[in-house]
Amino acid sequence: MHFTQQDRQRLAASMLEWYDRHHRTLPWRSEPGETPDPYHVWLSEIMLQQTTVQTVGPYFAAFLKRWPAVTDLANAELDDVLHAWQGLGYYARARNLHKCAKVVATDYDGVFPDTEEGLLKLPGIGPYTACAVAAIAFNRHASPVDGNIERVISRLFALETPLPDVKPEIKEKSAALTPSNRPGDYAQALMDLGATVCTPRNPACGICPWQADCEGRKSGIAPDLPKKRKKEPKPTRVGYAFWIRREDDGRILVRRRPEKGLLGGLYEVPGSDWRAIEAPDDVMLSEAPVSAEWSELDGTVGHTFTHFHLTVSVLAATLPAHEADQLDGSWTTIDGLSDFALPTVMKKIVRHALKYRSV
Ligand code: SF4
Repeated sequence: MHFTQQDRQRLAASMLEWYDRHHRTLPWRSEPGETPDPYHVWLSEIMLQQTTVQTVGPYFAAFLKRWPAVTDLANAELDDVLHAWQGLGYYARARNLHKCAKVVATDYDGVFPDTEEGLLKLPGIGPYTACAVAAIAFNRHASPVDGNIERVISRLFALETPLPDVKPEIKEKSAALTPSNRPGDYAQALMDLGATVCTPRNPACGICPWQADCEGRKSGIAPDLPKKRKKEPKPTRVGYAFWIRREDDGRILVRRRPEKGLLGGLYEVPGSDWRAIEAPDDVMLSEAPVSAEWSELDGTVGHTFTHFHLTVSVLAATLPAHEADQLDGSWTTIDGLSDFALPTVMKKIVRHALKYRSV
């Protein structure tokens, strides 16, 4: 399928016309034809990575209320940012968000660079985000390709090569279609079309501005595109969590995870390593912060990360104050646990411990 220059102009014009009438109203957006605040665009793009628009809405509003400008975010404590990020997952992103705000505030006088190349130099901004922010916030001639755009373009051209191999072809075809007039609105138009009309299972081709040109629709394969390469099943890892209570005041031990690695810098109920194969008990117990009379709580806690499933058994013990006070970490009341940036898996461990604790 090849589009002439005239076809491309026609396709872009019909897409922009559709956008003017049917665009979604989203908290970080400006009206069609207007330029939005780059801070809003950047913040929303980082939050939206692998998360839905519905989930992001309240987080976006809360961040802006607390940190109205990028310089406010730069001055925030990292712990407060991680805490506010709780529930969005992928905490490395929150740490980079904070780092990026600091760089923009100090090295760029609080003003985001306005080109793809300039944005790419900032922490936490990869090729997609640089492209999306350049197009949406600065109306640069850039062609971001998110999941929605991937679907629309693979259908328009009836591309049958499975993901991820088809990505370079989608990128190239999408770039060739991007108009120099309103490229930011055009990118958002494709995102909106993918989210509301060209949906994964039942594309509403009858109301699509590209229906007459769409090869996927014409050949009846649109709902099956884009194809996906079969995924390898996720492995399972196992580990122990140590629920340690201080005898005198009933406080619980939490500690901060190392900065580097999974859930880096967040708080945890102390635990063993998470392993592919169950290790003998004495190995797991040697990783406890203290040797104690452990009692294993009923049941286990399950959690799924991007690359593996995790099953955690919880061991509980009570320590006299003189032993407890030797340990590194923070002792907190149960109510006080909400003041710590605990990732979802740790919240599950806490809930489990509170439900089944015998000590
Ligand atoms: Fe998607 Fe249908 Fe439009 Fe093609 S015609 S882009 S399949 S909604």
